[in-house]
Amino acid sequence: MDAAIITLIESGILYDGSGSPPQLEAIAFSDRILARGEEALAYCADRKVTRIDARGMTVMPGLVDAHCHISFDEPFSNDELFFHRREGLAAIIAAYNVRKVLRAGVTTMFDADTIFDVSLDLRDAIECGVTPGPRMRCGGNALFTSVGGTAGLLVPDEGGIGYLKVTPSKDDIVAEIRRQAKRGADWIKIHVTGLIPRQRSEGEIQVWSFEELVLAAATAHDLGLPIVGHCRNATSTRDAARAGFDMILHATYMDDAALEAVIAAKVPIVPTLTFQAVLADHGKMIGASAYLQDLFAKEIEQSSRQLRIAYDAGVPLACGTESGFSITPYGEWHWRELQILVENLGLTPLQALRCATFEGARALGLADRIGTLEVGKDADIIVVAGDCTQDVTLLGEKGGIAHVFQAGKATDLATPLPERRDPPSWRVSNYSRVAATRLATGHWKAGE
Ligand SMILES: [Zn+2]
Repeated sequence: MDAAIITLIESGILYDGSGSPPQLEAIAFSDRILARGEEALAYCADRKVTRIDARGMTVMPGLVDAHCHISFDEPFSNDELFFHRREGLAAIIAAYNVRKVLRAGVTTMFDADTIFDVSLDLRDAIECGVTPGPRMRCGGNALFTSVGGTAGLLVPDEGGIGYLKVTPSKDDIVAEIRRQAKRGADWIKIHVTGLIPRQRSEGEIQVWSFEELVLAAATAHDLGLPIVGHCRNATSTRDAARAGFDMILHATYMDDAALEAVIAAKVPIVPTLTFQAVLADHGKMIGASAYLQDLFAKEIEQSSRQLRIAYDAGVPLACGTESGFSITPYGEWHWRELQILVENLGLTPLQALRCATFEGARALGLADRIGTLEVGKDADIIVVAGDCTQDVTLLGEKGGIAHVFQAGKATDLATPLPERRDPPSWRVSNYSRVAATRLATGHWKAGE
């Protein structure tokens, strides 16, 4: 006897992730997809099934967010992230936050780097059924050279802090990759670019040599692990592609040589322009400078042109959002990258949907199990109000996600998550500038 719960979704606009046109079609599934169309209806005719009427709704593969930071808990600064987090508490809070991601329709998530080993532990807890969440693929700590990444002087000359491990020598690179393989990392993440105080070029500067990238890729590949690079300039993107990287995050500011290299390698790119877009759109509200808003708007505009050329030449693009920082909170912006693909890169909604589903799955090596709604694949399915194949922003409408199934299991969207507060000392503390100014100018008396 088949004891599995069978669900039949009828009358919805079925987008199956294959790129073929959407159509009104039924789909039946247990943990795997059992049948579609007339066959699904026939299969369910004399069985006890849960029926969902999806009239006016889109039935599609669950979203794949290929760039999240689930262990960070939306920090306001690197100081907070590096010095105000505790391992056990970070893991417990990540288990709370990841439910927001799942409820937003993300059934698979790539967590490229983590503080401590939080993401690896969370991944395993989800797989064991201890806590609900998207299926995860994750890196361990990001590998840095001593020049650092984007955290300035908080990055030590050697050793680890926050989400990173500094590997000053080639021996250290090899040793750290082996250490991470032993601890269960799915991917090796390299921070190929960084920021220095007096740099003279656009974007970030390359802080790994080509030889070091080749060594890192070879060491990872020897252990059967793929390798991903954070590359926010032209040379780093070019060198990562040439060194055999399996995924590139950002790939902004590409020049002709970088484009040529990514096109030759057909390496999946996760542009992750959501972070910049949110800041460019809402910067004023959160106190970001006009300069930064303008800089990010330009980065999007300029990079979109090159990314579109890469896309047209067959480079796979996947959607990522950097969810996990204060301006990219969990569960809120997982749809935004699709809008960028449509509005800034000029992709059709169908092309954008494919990037957010199948291409993400393929980039993570999961395309045989998820990413399309083919019979036999895992039933990672979402149902969204309206026709997403015409308007991808419907994925971001409040309450628009009507159902989320992961391997056929329904997520409870009706019960709100319990309200949470921040544990003591969790957020960074600031000396109050306002009070200091008022004191200095005599507008504030002691005891006021
Ligand atoms: Zn990131």
